[in-house]
Amino acid sequence: MTTSPLTIRMHAADNVAIVANDGGLPAGSVLPDGLTLVDRVPQGHKVALVAIAKDAAVLRYNVPIGYALKDIPAGAWVHERLLHMPEARSLADLPRATAAAWNAEPLQGYTFEGYRNADGSVGTRNILAITTTVQCVAGVVDFAVQRIKEQLLPRYPNVDDVIGLEHSYGCGVAIDAPDAIIPIRTLRNISKNPNFGGEVMVVSLGCEKLQPERLLPPGSIPLQTNEALDVVCLQAEKHVGFMSMIDSVLTSAVPHLERLNARQRETIPASELVVGVQCGGSDAFSGVTANPAVGFCTDLLVRAGATVMFSETTEVRDAVDQMTARATTPEIADAMAREMAWYDAYLGRGQADRSANTTPGNKAGGLSNIVEKAMGSIIKSGTAPISGVLSPGEKLQHKGLIYAATPASDFICGTLQLAAGMNLHVFTTGRGTPYGLAEVPVIKVATRTDLARRWHDLMDVNAGTIADGEATIADVGWELFHLMLEVASGRKQTWAEHWKLHNALVLFNPAPIT
Ligand code: CA
Repeated sequence: MTTSPLTIRMHAADNVAIVANDGGLPAGSVLPDGLTLVDRVPQGHKVALVAIAKDAAVLRYNVPIGYALKDIPAGAWVHERLLHMPEARSLADLPRATAAAWNAEPLQGYTFEGYRNADGSVGTRNILAITTTVQCVAGVVDFAVQRIKEQLLPRYPNVDDVIGLEHSYGCGVAIDAPDAIIPIRTLRNISKNPNFGGEVMVVSLGCEKLQPERLLPPGSIPLQTNEALDVVCLQAEKHVGFMSMIDSVLTSAVPHLERLNARQRETIPASELVVGVQCGGSDAFSGVTANPAVGFCTDLLVRAGATVMFSETTEVRDAVDQMTARATTPEIADAMAREMAWYDAYLGRGQADRSANTTPGNKAGGLSNIVEKAMGSIIKSGTAPISGVLSPGEKLQHKGLIYAATPASDFICGTLQLAAGMNLHVFTTGRGTPYGLAEVPVIKVATRTDLARRWHDLMDVNAGTIADGEATIADVGWELFHLMLEVASGRKQTWAEHWKLHNALVLFNPAPIT
């Protein structure tokens, strides 16, 4: 790591750059172009490259991330208290599918070893997932899962794991409210995630509002051997005592485990990857190192015919015009604007707006506001045309680059991407989070070498080498692409898998609780 002053400017028109040096730079430091810092500037924070007059735009990514509240001299630290945030762009008169054609060469010949499912989807892991209708059963399901792991799983060595799909929904909710469709379809579609091999078994309490037939109505899942949905109902009269419930769950699990155990990995084209990308615990390097590398990899995946979902609506909102321009059709642009409008109204009902997104950690890491964070976040989507839009909890119908509308909350975004059919998850972080999911492998990408060094057994890829000048965005993008194929094939475990770091499923429920 160099010790001479190092700054990164994202666009030639920018009037600020960020300080890359570990520990920041003291006042009096002289940048390579001769500019002398007049303040101490922490790592990841912005320095004014020229004098910025009161009310003038502060440009990063060639986008006004704010307007100066007072005159800012050249060499000064530009922090959030000096900036007035711009209003969100109107959703009227957005460009619709106006971007130039994308002429990237198809990428051929890349494969991974995966589990082909009857519905055509492909799993990267082979997991028995037990669907639950209501939180009331969670303790029983936890107990049963432990028993299955101890007593049954050793007989089925080809099955990677057994998990309970537990959540806080199912009762005490306004189940007929229009927005209740979101948590319900999320649970329905998660139970059909490709990593579960089409095996669906349900544990229900009995008296809950979300009855098994409402969660998984006839026709919503392909049934295996018999016609009835496989449900263990804890309140059923036949259950006398706790152990009879546990025995029922274990007995139900056996045929599912047998069928899962018989699955074999086979060589699958990279076009069957379904990658969800998101970021969490972002800093100013997120948009400089990790997210651009992910964006490069997104382009590789789309060129290979794969599916990539990007999400986090509050972090796309300020770039909505760039995104609707990249839509493949005016209808897809309109769908994106519709999702943004719905989310604006949802936030408005809570008397909040997109600015509620940024955290104290984001600001400490140099991100002044949501506009700056958004510009760094959307880079994960690369440059490909956007060929589809999903509402929260919906399942993917098409390949390519898809905008899956979700909150930015790491757990809710991950949960909704699972429902969409994700079989691999990529997560970038600058501040550091040990995030992981039980359902799919999560590849974590560090934005800074300092984080990658300290969290050497939690971070899978170090994109900090880009800021250090040791690797290019393309180098790290290709590294990530090759790692994805290894992880998808089961030849490599992610650190979150190694340590079994599993965050809870968290449903997005905009409907009332009763
Ligand atoms: Ca997130």
